[in-house]
Amino acid sequence: MRILPLNAGGKLHLKGLSRLELEQLFQGWGEPRYRAVQLLEWLYAKGVEDFEKMTNLPHTLRQRLAAECTPHTLRLEAAERSEQDGTLKFLFRLPDGAAIESVLIPAEDAEGRLRRLTLCVSTQVGCPLGCAFCATASLRLRRNLNAAEIVDQLLQARALTGQRITNLVFMGMGEPLLNLEAVLTAVRIWTDPAAALLSPRRITLSTAGLVPEIYRLADSGIRIKLAISLHTTDQQLREQLMPIARRYPVTELQKAARYYAEHTRRPVTYEYILFDRLNDTPADADALARFARASAVAKINLIPFHPIDFIGPSGIGATLRPSPPERIRAFQERLRRHGLAVFLRSSSGLDIKAACGQLALSWQHPAVSPS
Ligand code: SF4
Repeated sequence: MRILPLNAGGKLHLKGLSRLELEQLFQGWGEPRYRAVQLLEWLYAKGVEDFEKMTNLPHTLRQRLAAECTPHTLRLEAAERSEQDGTLKFLFRLPDGAAIESVLIPAEDAEGRLRRLTLCVSTQVGCPLGCAFCATASLRLRRNLNAAEIVDQLLQARALTGQRITNLVFMGMGEPLLNLEAVLTAVRIWTDPAAALLSPRRITLSTAGLVPEIYRLADSGIRIKLAISLHTTDQQLREQLMPIARRYPVTELQKAARYYAEHTRRPVTYEYILFDRLNDTPADADALARFARASAVAKINLIPFHPIDFIGPSGIGATLRPSPPERIRAFQERLRRHGLAVFLRSSSGLDIKAACGQLALSWQHPAVSPS
């Protein structure tokens, strides 16, 4: 059994426990296993955190839960809503004082009705992978989040807005595959039928391309969607943009993407940030189309680059500029002619710094604010 996280007061973080772990906990306390389902229903389906209100649990159990466990992990520090598109960004304080961010992104249909509400969650405080285009990279890694801290981002966003979250993406601070055990536990909790929160089909994990962990995720039995941050098919350029590429070459990544798609029957997407004159030519689009087809990947997300000049990037990071809109359109059209499904991701929340890690960064370095 894995080591369960305790808070500073020595209490067990309840939101980090899967159904199986709750059953083991209650059995150890001499309680029947079905108490686990009852607790999952209170905490997640009904959103009740006060043990005294969990009326179908015996009084003695409620007292023991209050004495030895806590449902509280995150505290809201700040929230900002984008005037442009309604994106809502939360800054949460962790029990040890570190800060993380979650972003809630609404999508509407043609009639202006809410079609999807997607929460982007963080999995680490900072990130060790050092991608040249990323603001979080400058924070370096402070620590992994535990499962309760990941799970609670969704519950907090739901409680703070009063809205049901329909989709979830692991695209916030950190590389989720570097914290795979906690991520898998969080997914098990959110998708438990008693929690009634999310279907695995509505969860997407985005990775910089950790090849062994892509195979582990594919073999985990959890069927979520996978997005791979590719950004170029050129090995040398990718090594400059993403140092992790030195360890896992694009050819290995291509094989892992194919394995994931074939073993999980879930779609794999390539994420591609367009940089001015670096990876946005017609030849780049043709190479990407060939690469995607060889990986059994049929979907590409194109992403406009959000400049990160405010962190004072060095090396190749200092030279990166966004592709102009006309070149983005031409790139998209060329990929479509290759028969690929290509989507242009909007710049959701650009005005509230929704690009990776930027709110937490400005919080930790208030003197350095994005222009
Ligand atoms: S882009 Fe993702 S993997 Fe790369 S440094 Fe930023 S948070 Fe880490």
